Amino acid sequence: MKLVFATNNKHKLDEMRAILGDKVELLSLADIDCHDDIPETADTLEGNALIKARHIYSKYGCSCFADDTGLEVDALGGEPGVYSARYAGESNDSEANMRKLLDNLTGKTDRNAQFRTVIALIINGEEKLFDGVVRGAIAEQRMGTAGFGYDPIFVPEGFAESFAQMPAEQKNSMSHRARAAAALNEYLQTL
Ligand code: IMP
Repeated sequence: MKLVFATNNKHKLDEMRAILGDKVELLSLADIDCHDDIPETADTLEGNALIKARHIYSKYGCSCFADDTGLEVDALGGEPGVYSARYAGESNDSEANMRKLLDNLTGKTDRNAQFRTVIALIINGEEKLFDGVVRGAIAEQRMGTAGFGYDPIFVPEGFAESFAQMPAEQKNSMSHRARAAAALNEYLQTL
């Protein structure tokens, strides 16, 4: 089956191709010649994933899915959540985002948090949502240099190292994105 993944991020495409296997021919936005800047204006991860998937489905008529991810911190009522990329401003500056998060957690003893990825799938006109969660805690300071985004300050449950101190394969084996992708794959296998 042919499915469009509403991204041009090569890392996400490679990871998704590895999980979905040969049964799915995965196309990127570039593959369908889509260069639209799709505004992510919803205030939930589900809403933003649906906006992107609906845009592709209504304009190109092909089965597709889109993802959206956020870091949800318990003591901050789920912030930064859907605003994770732009927490400290529109520039998607990871250093500034981490600094703001660490500042907002100063003095808080509850440092529990989770990464959550939502995937919105539209297949033959039907909408389905999948999610993947990895629980963990926000470290007191940055640890490690691998990965991206909030990886240096996120320590997954059961580990002492941050995501940024782990080899990519280890992070990918437990990540929110991999878990959401596995849920999507399980559903696609039933079709
Ligand atoms: P996106 O929806 O995949 O673009 O993710 C939104 C934002 O969440 C990113 O800009 C990062 O700040 C953060 N994020 C998403 N996934 C990860 C991850 O695996 N590690 C660290 N930060 C992440």
